[in-house]
Amino acid sequence: MLLYVVSFTVVALATFYLYFRKNRFSQFQNASLVAILLICVSISSIQIFNPRADSFNLMCAMVLYAVYVVFENPAQYTHHATRCFNERAFHEEMTAFSRVSANPDMLLIGLNNRPETNSAKDVFFYSLLMDEVADRLETVFGKNVFCIESGKYVLIVDDKKYSDYKDAVKDLEEAFDKSIKIRNDKYYAEIICRHFTMSDIRISEDYVDHFTEVIRQNQMDHLIYNYDIGTKVMEQHNSREIEDAIIRGVEDDNFSVFYQPLFDINENSFTAAEALLRLNDPQMGNIRPDMFIPIAEKSGFIVRVGEMVLEKVCRFMNSHSYIRIKEPIIGVNVSPVQLSRKGESERLINIMKKYSIDASKINMEITESFFEYEDKVVKENNDVLLEYGVTFSVDDYGAGFATVDYLYTLPFTFVKIDRMVIVQAMENENAMIVFKSTVDLVKKMNKLVVVEGIENQEMLDVVASTGADYIQGYLYSRPLEEKKFVEFMIDNII
Ligand code: C2E
Ligand code: CA
Ligand code: CA
Repeated sequence: MLLYVVSFTVVALATFYLYFRKNRFSQFQNASLVAILLICVSISSIQIFNPRADSFNLMCAMVLYAVYVVFENPAQYTHHATRCFNERAFHEEMTAFSRVSANPDMLLIGLNNRPETNSAKDVFFYSLLMDEVADRLETVFGKNVFCIESGKYVLIVDDKKYSDYKDAVKDLEEAFDKSIKIRNDKYYAEIICRHFTMSDIRISEDYVDHFTEVIRQNQMDHLIYNYDIGTKVMEQHNSREIEDAIIRGVEDDNFSVFYQPLFDINENSFTAAEALLRLNDPQMGNIRPDMFIPIAEKSGFIVRVGEMVLEKVCRFMNSHSYIRIKEPIIGVNVSPVQLSRKGESERLINIMKKYSIDASKINMEITESFFEYEDKVVKENNDVLLEYGVTFSVDDYGAGFATVDYLYTLPFTFVKIDRMVIVQAMENENAMIVFKSTVDLVKKMNKLVVVEGIENQEMLDVVASTGADYIQGYLYSRPLEEKKFVEFMIDNII
């Protein structure tokens, strides 16, 4: 008898729950639950009047079905691919909030590194990935996740669980800390998110209609994100704030340099690394270099930042740990803006002298856009540094539209092939021809070829079949802070 009472209560509670949360449930669900409730009443009555009837299994089935009806999103509120609540469910939720003038914190969540979807295989991979992303979001945030469109989610921050939405951002970061495994591929989802509330969006009375459109069209660039291993969480800031963070960063030493090892194919060992700058601002969190470097370049602050990077690198190269790891060549990114300053080469040389650095161990990486600077000063600086013994790389080769003539007119030692060249090659046969002949062409000019952005074995196999000299990419290692980099090198130098 007790079991019947319990089952009956479960179904009754489910019905009440639905009744009070009905905005996200379909008529069909409501009707099914009422029907289940009636059937339960009938079963219980039959059992009471005829104790020999064995209707317990039927009762259990009804309870399970009731639970299923409550937890399964109704079709019209379900995003077809991810099984999350969809835009329509979100709409209704917003309408409900607006009725009671509630203003919840919300996070607009997207994927920064959406894979390309050029072929059927890619589309399939993408759909598996979207499934996984949605699953992770739902595991942490339950039914507060809404898929607005493929790859774009809104999370309504539950104010009972989080007193500050930043704690939800932390959970979000944590949820994507680990790579997503899809078949044999590891995928690091770079999650970007933007905090907003309804009051952030100035819209008219019928704003709810407008609202999802605003979100849909929201440009997610100019956002800044916290940088973590495997995850990047962004929040919106403007360039003025970033500029302030850069100034604070130089004054308060919020900058640090990470090192990404480069695998030397010929030596079968790690003989080089790239220094990559990180900014950890106490107010804004971690800011990615591709956010702050362009702003520093615009304001001219890059000159100071660039000198600071070289100083940090030289200090490291002068330390005991650098000798222990067999003195790899360190690539330092130098902005063309820096080199267009008169006397900059002398200042950089003075930094190297201060720490008694062997200049041949420093490799300055300059992007293709350097060649737009047809400038006498740039050439002078370049010559003085070369004379001092520093080597140079063309960085991001193949990313722009630069012609190849500078490859033989200027004294570059290395050419770093941009990540997108290999990424495209993996997807398209013609792009593969371009990639392989680029490596070939550069090799024939007696330059050393570095291929950037190698993330998996498949890519590695392709690169190994060409004559490339160095490989850089997450497959071997992400950029590491000094101590971890030293540990990595000690463990991996063969
Ligand atoms: P970059 O010079 O092309 O540096 C390589 C970027 O690719 C780094 O991003 C690195 O973390 C990332 N990367 C390395 N392996 C992989 C991979 O397998 N997959 C993917 N998806 N990415 C990979 P990061 O550190 O965010 O730096 C971004 C850019 O910011 C750099 O691009 C460089 O242009 C600039 N930058 C960084 N540090 C400095 C600096 O000290 N001075 C100047 N002027 N620019 C810097
Ligand atoms: Ca670089
Ligand atoms: Ca590069």
